[in-house]
Amino acid sequence: MSSGHVALTSPEALHVTGIRKSFGALEVLKGIDLTAMQGDVIAIIGGSGSGKSTFLRCLNFLEHPSAGTVRINGEEIALARDGHGNLAPSSGAQLRRIRSRLAMVFQGFNLWTHMTLLENVIEAPVRVLGLERKDAVWQAEALLDRVGLGHKIHEYPSFLSGGQQQRAAIARALAVDPHAMLFDEPTSALDPELVGEVLKVIRGLAEEGRTLVLVTHEMGFARDVANQVVFLHNGRIEEQGPPAELFGRPKSERLGRFLGNF
Ligand code: ADP
Ligand code: MG
Repeated sequence: MSSGHVALTSPEALHVTGIRKSFGALEVLKGIDLTAMQGDVIAIIGGSGSGKSTFLRCLNFLEHPSAGTVRINGEEIALARDGHGNLAPSSGAQLRRIRSRLAMVFQGFNLWTHMTLLENVIEAPVRVLGLERKDAVWQAEALLDRVGLGHKIHEYPSFLSGGQQQRAAIARALAVDPHAMLFDEPTSALDPELVGEVLKVIRGLAEEGRTLVLVTHEMGFARDVANQVVFLHNGRIEEQGPPAELFGRPKSERLGRFLGNF
């Protein structure tokens, strides 16, 4: 290709097909396909129990799907059957690759409570990526500063508000320089007055072109920040499209009803 070539489409960041998951007799995910191009912000919405968290957890193998394929930045993840017949990364090295490429931020504040914010943020770069400690510290200081916690780096999580903890969790997720970030209702455990400061950080990530897959009940935020919205119902994608269409002219009656509740 000539050096003057300009790519017209951004490369694929994440591509999954046919994701299924059962817990015993309960089939929670019934075959989900999703593609995120680099820079996409995909909001996943849906009622409680529709499978949103399970789907996110299958993407980074916190949950082993019963079936499906996962490709991250064009690279197919090699999978093997685990002892229960579900799909697991074929090796520890594969799992570490996945975890450093897809960073997840959860609903609860799941920082390590026995570590300061700085220690939380340097942990994965040092242990998983093999970064030199001083480089990891330098990077962590910059990341914590970026989420507005430059003055709290030596604090322990329990001394911080929920919003501060969640911002620190985002800094920790950023520290592995992930290809895509997965957020599972990152603001739903927060007091209302703390939601804004966390959404602001996530909006900043979207604006700098990061690839985000975000489960959220913040419909206004999804409409504003996402370029694609996926409505899950009963383990299937019921409707998918740009936010203006999904929120403005929902085709599915179920989606219309769901949105009517907000
Ligand atoms: P959502 O995040 O959309 O609320 P979840 O993915 O958490 O939905 O759950 C979907 C369904 O799967 C629910 O019926 C839930 O009870 C069930 N489920 C989730 N995790 C487990 C588990 N580890 N074992 C058994 N059932 C589970
Ligand atoms: Mg959930």
